Amino acid sequence: MKSEILKGIYKQLVLKLEELSRLGGVMGIMHWDQEVIMPKGAAENRSKQMAALAGVLHEKSIDLEFGRLINKLVDTGIENFTEIEQCNIYEAKREYELETKIPKELVQEIAELSSRGHQIWAKARKENKFEDFAPTLERLIFLKKKWAKFSFPNLEPYDANIDIFERGMRMSNLTPIFDQLKKELIPLIAAIKKSSINLETSFLEGDFSIDKQKALGKTISKDIGFDYNNGRMDSSVHPFCGGGHSTDVRITTRYRTENFIESLFGVIHETGHGLYEQGRMPGFLDLPVSESLTMGIHESQSLFWERMIAQNLYFCDYYLNLFVETFPEKLKGVSLNAFYSAINLSRPSFIRVEADEVTYPMHIILRYEIEKGLFDETISVRNLPEVWNDKMEEYLGIRPSSDSEGVLQDVHWSGGAFGYFPSYTLGAMYACQFYSKMLLDINDIPKMIATGNFSCIKKWLNENIHEKGRIFSTDDLVLKVTGEKLNPCFFIDYLKNKYGEIYNL
Ligand code: ZN
Repeated sequence: MKSEILKGIYKQLVLKLEELSRLGGVMGIMHWDQEVIMPKGAAENRSKQMAALAGVLHEKSIDLEFGRLINKLVDTGIENFTEIEQCNIYEAKREYELETKIPKELVQEIAELSSRGHQIWAKARKENKFEDFAPTLERLIFLKKKWAKFSFPNLEPYDANIDIFERGMRMSNLTPIFDQLKKELIPLIAAIKKSSINLETSFLEGDFSIDKQKALGKTISKDIGFDYNNGRMDSSVHPFCGGGHSTDVRITTRYRTENFIESLFGVIHETGHGLYEQGRMPGFLDLPVSESLTMGIHESQSLFWERMIAQNLYFCDYYLNLFVETFPEKLKGVSLNAFYSAINLSRPSFIRVEADEVTYPMHIILRYEIEKGLFDETISVRNLPEVWNDKMEEYLGIRPSSDSEGVLQDVHWSGGAFGYFPSYTLGAMYACQFYSKMLLDINDIPKMIATGNFSCIKKWLNENIHEKGRIFSTDDLVLKVTGEKLNPCFFIDYLKNKYGEIYNL
């Protein structure tokens, strides 16, 4: 086909993709509004409005004309297009196929059961009755296996579910990586538990004014580079990073008067997600090529700022004065080392979202092994509470006394999101590997952090990760940026060194 005709077809495709992206942005703002400022009474109407918009989006994305344009471009001259254009075409193809391959009834049943499942799960968790949630969970797994056969017929069903969040990642890659983490972290966690060092943390608990916490969070998110001209920060029950566009990024946090560190790290975490969104590839903001790569890479950006930077001794060094000025009644006289050690306290706990960076991966590996077992039928839903508790005991040395603090704690399964959990720990490992490379690329990062100079760090992330969008696969991106594929040793060594020092191991 002549190249002008092909360019014309590509232009039509771009218009359609941009329209979809803008409607998605409207959905993002509606969701933000619902979580942040919507009056309670509007809940029912809002869910109808969002369902109506989701319907419009779905209709547009399965439009036959859309499919024809994509197939023409793929079949008759993909080589005429640039790398960026090819990426847009292939991304459009993947999305189109995912939307059109699955029978409508199956899509509807999953959507309906996921929304009902959430209520059933919330009630079961509150009443501590796993058996009330078990039949829904069984059905959801059955449906997601069926879904996998249609969407990725060549993949194992659990791999297909992982692929939605972490494209290209397979059990065959993950299992050995997680086994290596397990081998190294179980003894580290046990050694920390046995250590004679008792960290003093009482100065982190008290009565911290929410206004002061807000101001502190805003100052630090600005310092590390969040652009308030193209974003804002508010509070919500569940912190998130959303919004309508790369020029309109909305991050949220939640505040508790008893503890300011939690909300501060929450702000820094969401700022990391926000910087990724604000740093997208200029010139292609409404097209798939500039979208974030995977959940794991997104999480690597939030964890990079939260753990590699903010839980670093040099960061504490720079900000301790400001913390003391803000909360003198609790923090006056606290030494840098005491502060740094306190915010890095590591201790096994039942709840994943409250876990520290050493114990967190064990919560994830436990869930990964369980999901894998549920999908290959070596674990049955009926036995889940026991399997869960046994693994908690084996990995973290503690046993939950109720299902609410065990198998019922996470929202993910109630919405049919299987295969999501690995992304959290992949993100932690990517963050660590990126940071190791940055230390080699830029001179004196510690000094920059200790003097509050974060611009080079942000620029490195912008240029190496954010602006690359979806041009490379995750494997290729990590290889290009760091010179090797994902290697868990960076993360393992980082944890061993850091906690070896803190706990005198
Ligand atoms: Zn996150």
